[in-house]
Amino acid sequence: MTRRPLVAGNWKMNGLKAGLSELEAIGAGYSAALKAKSDFLICPPVTLVAEAAKAVTGKGVFIGGQDCHAKASGPHTGDVSAEMLKDAGAAYVIVGHSERRADHGESDAVVRAKAEAGLRAGLVTIVCVGERREQREAGKAIAVVREQLAGSIPDAATAATVVVAYEPVWAIGTGLTPTKADVADMHKAIRETLGQRFGAEGQNTRILYGGSVKPENARDLIIQPDVDGALIGGASLKAKDFLGIASAYI
Ligand code: PEP
Repeated sequence: MTRRPLVAGNWKMNGLKAGLSELEAIGAGYSAALKAKSDFLICPPVTLVAEAAKAVTGKGVFIGGQDCHAKASGPHTGDVSAEMLKDAGAAYVIVGHSERRADHGESDAVVRAKAEAGLRAGLVTIVCVGERREQREAGKAIAVVREQLAGSIPDAATAATVVVAYEPVWAIGTGLTPTKADVADMHKAIRETLGQRFGAEGQNTRILYGGSVKPENARDLIIQPDVDGALIGGASLKAKDFLGIASAYI
């Protein structure tokens, strides 16, 4: 099996209905050449998931949620379940983004329960991992990420149902990026870890890089042996930038 690159956008807490015009432009720009080389995914805020799914009907662009609750339903005011995302038209869900780990104190165990919910609902589940700056400076980046992988990825994960996103926390939204060699080393370590635990499924699992990816640096960051796509925050809000990044694959 060859790993088909995934170019994924995380709109975070950005986007009103008017912003769907950018999504429509992404759909319009998803050319035959891009379709031949990569999957496209946009994760808008939950308020837009249903409308976004309608807006890309027939365009081949997947829509995803940015988080989900571990339970399917129940007394959890303000939360959204994986089943609800699926019902609204999502095909993917992101779990364990560093902003959720930091802002909501989500542990690896919580992230794993959410990932299990994503699988239960039939959503392809993107599990985010990544070290903080001080952990990298202390030479612990790979150990930290290995521990997150062990704690956050469900045993039932397969190459078709789980995607890993490596996002160094210090690179998210900062304009800072790791060197090409650091990305290569980390992705190799993640691949080894997945391979040891999941065998062939681990070898075939897509590993995305995320953190200040832009059209100008995309080739360097994502055209590498164990990098199977990008998770893009800020630059996914503009169709021109998102398409510019994706064009690294053609
Ligand atoms: C992200 O939020 O996952 C992300 C990578 O953000 P940015 O591209 O803005 O650094």
